[in-house]
Amino acid sequence: MHFRYLTIFLFITLLTVVNAAKAYTVNTNTATMHVIERYDINAKVRAELDLIEVKAKITMKLNGDNAIALTLNRSADISKITIDSQVTDFIFDKKGDTPNEYIDNGRLLTITHNQKSNDKNTEQKSIVEVTYSLLLSEVNYLNSLNGGRDLEMGFYTAWYPNSMDYGDFEFMVNLNINQKKLAVSNAVITKDNQNWLMTSKGLSMDIVILAATTLKDYNFTAGDAKVTVYDIDSKPELIEKLLKDIQTSIKYLKSSLGHTKGKASHYQFVLVPRVKGPSYSRGSFSVITRFKEDQYDRLLKTINHEIGHFWWNRADSRTWQDWLNESFAEYSAVMALEHIYSVDKRIALINSYQKKSQKSPAIQGIARNDNKAQSALYQKGPVILDALRNKIGDEHFLSLLREVNDQQIDNTQALLILLTKLEGQAISTWLAQQLSL
Ligand SMILES: [Zn+2]
Repeated sequence: MHFRYLTIFLFITLLTVVNAAKAYTVNTNTATMHVIERYDINAKVRAELDLIEVKAKITMKLNGDNAIALTLNRSADISKITIDSQVTDFIFDKKGDTPNEYIDNGRLLTITHNQKSNDKNTEQKSIVEVTYSLLLSEVNYLNSLNGGRDLEMGFYTAWYPNSMDYGDFEFMVNLNINQKKLAVSNAVITKDNQNWLMTSKGLSMDIVILAATTLKDYNFTAGDAKVTVYDIDSKPELIEKLLKDIQTSIKYLKSSLGHTKGKASHYQFVLVPRVKGPSYSRGSFSVITRFKEDQYDRLLKTINHEIGHFWWNRADSRTWQDWLNESFAEYSAVMALEHIYSVDKRIALINSYQKKSQKSPAIQGIARNDNKAQSALYQKGPVILDALRNKIGDEHFLSLLREVNDQQIDNTQALLILLTKLEGQAISTWLAQQLSL
């Protein structure tokens, strides 16, 4: 494993579930970018040959720039690329560096097109079709487990030509694979013989595919939301304990924070049997590494962070206001662990966050793609919230959280106004200061 990949993996797993897209969504020149509207993908998994054969039809709005820059896994053997059925030139720089820091084995695929620059014509769509095969062992996150029997692939290995700059998209994937069960982000899944059809329900930044013969799903409701936990091969004791703890957390957080007015009505968690690599979240679909056996608390906290987003998901995730999502979700996870274990658990977690975030910059104004944004939003933020709780007391703090949720507050200014109203000017000024330190 390459160092950078490892570093990113460690970084991500050490902190919490990270939506990698968030670090990237700030884009200053969107107006001039190509736009990917949708993917229609036909893929055939040929496990016996360690291959996956793919035909990706990409519906795009092309701008005047005549190069389309995509990231594709380095193992890709591209047989043909067409734009609107015309064979086109391309350069696949297999020996170059990855164009995307999150995709270590990604390589730059540059496709040329001859559509003339014409701003009046921006609504015109083009179909870019890329036909290629990939090494399954390169794009499967679960390759080293179970002899590659299970499959998990998505954005981080660039199994389909992608670009974070070209926006979120819809997708339809027809996957030919000999697997009994399948889970996928943000899609409706149906099966016809060996073909799985996945149709996106909305816009996504990823096409995650998880397939395992032993994939089990556990369903329960949490108020008006449905929760599904998928598991591949956890020990029965672990999954039993985890499901119980998840339900306890949701119940506790609901009673503490009030009703969820989140966008999603179905939350899915997939436990993958790897201990390395990122946990990630695509909207209400979260893929969580199982961690090592002695890291149960970390697993539980990671899931609880995602559960926290049932409540905290309204602020703009492209700016520092994201602390209202991330710091609050992380603090909710700490609260849930305190409820399940004891107050000592919370104190220990907050102390460790304090230590780790000593050199974090101020939350206020931090760029979301700053490499210190993670520690500021996921550690320093919860430390500040805990200090606020100590200042105003448990009861007042919970009332505040309930009000923030109830009033659907989505920016810091509104939070400070509410805090002034509930706790007085001095507390509000104090919080503003903490955020600027
Ligand atoms: Zn989060």
